[in-house]
Amino acid sequence: MKKTIKNKIVLVEDSITICRDLKANLSEFGYDVIAVFHDGESFLQTESSLHYDLLIMDIYLAGKLNGVETVENLFQNKIVPVLFLTGTTEEKIIERAKLLNPMGYLLKPYTPAQLKITFEMAIQKWKIDDELRIYKEHLEETIVERTKELFLAKEKAEKSEQLKTAFIHNMSHEIRTPLNAIIGFTELLINPKINEEKKIEFVNYIQNSTASLLTLVDNVWQLSHIQIGEFIPVITKCYINQILDEIEIEIKKQAYQENKNLSINILKFNSKPDFHFFSDPTIIKKIIANIANNAVKYTYKGSVIIEYKVLDNKAIVSVKDTGIGIEKNNITNIFELFYKIDTEKNKLYRGAGLGLALAKSLADAISARIIVDSEFGIGSTFSIEIPSVKPTDNLHHLNSLALVNNSDSQKEFLENFLADYHTKFKFFSNANEFCSIIKNGISFTHCILNVLNKEDGKNALSHIKKLTHIPIILLLPYEFFDFFSSQKNEDVENTYFLIKPIEKIQMTKLLKQLQII
Ligand code: ADP
Repeated sequence: MKKTIKNKIVLVEDSITICRDLKANLSEFGYDVIAVFHDGESFLQTESSLHYDLLIMDIYLAGKLNGVETVENLFQNKIVPVLFLTGTTEEKIIERAKLLNPMGYLLKPYTPAQLKITFEMAIQKWKIDDELRIYKEHLEETIVERTKELFLAKEKAEKSEQLKTAFIHNMSHEIRTPLNAIIGFTELLINPKINEEKKIEFVNYIQNSTASLLTLVDNVWQLSHIQIGEFIPVITKCYINQILDEIEIEIKKQAYQENKNLSINILKFNSKPDFHFFSDPTIIKKIIANIANNAVKYTYKGSVIIEYKVLDNKAIVSVKDTGIGIEKNNITNIFELFYKIDTEKNKLYRGAGLGLALAKSLADAISARIIVDSEFGIGSTFSIEIPSVKPTDNLHHLNSLALVNNSDSQKEFLENFLADYHTKFKFFSNANEFCSIIKNGISFTHCILNVLNKEDGKNALSHIKKLTHIPIILLLPYEFFDFFSSQKNEDVENTYFLIKPIEKIQMTKLLKQLQII
């Protein structure tokens, strides 16, 4: 049975007889009188400890405060529903009571029927008032929220407008400079008066300008890929020493081209060449490269030192330079897209303001952190904390493309190839292993099956085809091609062939056609 909750009433009335009658009548109507007071002061003293739904207040109370004054006092702290009891219709006091927006008035003497109806109406009015109050509060909250949202949207729109302007400005400058160099030096190359030695120098300038254009396009492409959410890290072994060796070559070349006599040092924590941890090597290289590239760019004399250590399953790579340094108030801004520190001196440095924004987005993708410690005029240290990820953690992410039965060399080739496109994949050493995973309900979008032997390949293909209808790419030696292509139609339906040794161009074409990359 549904339990009815009684409305709790507090009564303030100086007449003991009226109190007794009211109490009896009210409990008959189903109300619960939880406290009775005979003067305003004692009510006010205890009020805060009471939990009630309606206050019945006699207007003419004995004591210092009359009923209206008592309620006026109470309302300074909180508003409660009040019903006035009165034996008078004296206009002045009624006018004052009206200002308190009471739930109703009960004129003494009253009949039980009048009492009942006045109460019901008072409680009803309170409920409606309460709903309106909640609605109003909610409305106010909604308005505040919407105003905040609109303000943020406006700020965002303004910021994106600023970014767009910065983008156009930076990009046109960054594109124009190398393009002008290419156009200028190409014109000089066809000038018959220019000697061979000079020509080699000009070709060098052209090559550098082309390389910087390519890096720019590459950065923009990668950033846009990240922004549309199409960028998925590919977790595999990260041979950090190898990554740093490659970066060392690149930044030494950069220092040479920028005509800087810097001491560039790479300190390896672990000298074993096969030392590795698990993360996305392409991403890690790009992050370190962008930071190291800045270290050289913003350093005139002194050194650039790159070192790493491994702590608590984390690799910490730090790039330390003795360059121009960064003022404290700029340290967070430098990771914003297209942000360049805008001082007269900094205007001398080229750059689109993309490098660190890209490094930060890439770091987020592999849960890495970039920490900057810099002293203006002294130099900067950028530390990249990279967590080592267990390769098995990836199982759920890597279930797009299945690579089955690949030899080690093939595996490495595919790994590198797919890493460039950030394509999700999972290796299986043989078809049985792959089939049992499919049987467990894990699905893949495509399968690349390496065929080592005609009969085994044919069996593996038909086994897989019985379980899934995904497109299958067979990697075949040339001499197996006729055998497989002449199989019954249903056996090779939705099957594609790539002849080994695989040519990157053919592979790219087919994987693009199948929308794998
Ligand atoms: P940019 O293409 O302008 O170098 P980045 O995003 O790579 O763009 O860097 C943003 C800004 O941060 C730079 O314009 C530069 O003012 C500052 N900055 C980055 N790295 C360094 C550094 N190692 N030393 C001093 N300033 C740096």
